[in-house]
Amino acid sequence: MASSRATSSKQKPVKKPDWLKRRLPSGPAYEQTRRLIKNGCLHTVCQEANCPNMFECFSKHTATFLILGGLCTRKCAFCNVQHGPKELPDPREPTRVAQAAAQMKLNYIVITSVTRDDLPDGGAGLFAETIRATREKLPGSRIEVLIPDFQGNRNALQTVLDARPDVLNHNIETVPRLYDSVRPQADYRRSLTLLADSARIAPDIPTKSGLMLGLGETEPEIEQSLQDLRKTGCRIVTMGQYLQPTAKHHPVKQYVSPEQFEQWHRKAIEIGFSEASCGPFVRSSYEAKDTYSKVASIR
Ligand code: SF4
Repeated sequence: MASSRATSSKQKPVKKPDWLKRRLPSGPAYEQTRRLIKNGCLHTVCQEANCPNMFECFSKHTATFLILGGLCTRKCAFCNVQHGPKELPDPREPTRVAQAAAQMKLNYIVITSVTRDDLPDGGAGLFAETIRATREKLPGSRIEVLIPDFQGNRNALQTVLDARPDVLNHNIETVPRLYDSVRPQADYRRSLTLLADSARIAPDIPTKSGLMLGLGETEPEIEQSLQDLRKTGCRIVTMGQYLQPTAKHHPVKQYVSPEQFEQWHRKAIEIGFSEASCGPFVRSSYEAKDTYSKVASIR
């Protein structure tokens, strides 16, 4: 595979390549989605993580709901979500998510959360309630959950699966060598185990995972992680360019070109994934409905 444009940690960061320029969010459809989220007192990972696709997704009236508050108990070096004093989960949040999804006329809903290591179930109960409330309000909809690792708590995973999401997503984010610097409170094997457990407990619910490229990983390491994921039974993979949210976050080490992402797509399919969404702007929830539709049609 062609080499990436790379920076070392001591070098000045390289200029962002042209293919990463994106339009700033604006426009009536964008504003309408933003207002709806604000009026519903909801959080979205789109806003908290300052996702580069916000203009596109909000303009298409899609968003990824972030439940369990807006403050995370972990400090991953790539993530822009805020940390802070723990808030008690809001029992009305599932209803508010369901109402907002109905107002947005969504038929594919992605729900994620901050990591709540302070809660005994890691927030699994609120995930399950949000799935149920959303399904009750929008009976024909499909629901994807992007869950944290619940610190390896299998009962928590079971709680989420019992609510029957249509896709169980959990990101490994990067290769194992970089966990200490990028995700110090996470564990690569624990994440793989969660995906394998999900595929074993509920084989009819496809599992999905994702990697960010550009954190300093090598191509053999990426390929090994794809192999590791596939061995868990994972069927959908997403791969996108890591972008440094602020100067305090982990630096971008490589810019991966669209052509290289295309090669990773081919590699993932060769390894056996049913669907691989790969591109500079791909995020875990980017075009999630389209990705799911492709997998559902070949089930
Ligand atoms: S890609 Fe996902 S996180 Fe980003 S704006 Fe779209 S829905 Fe939100």
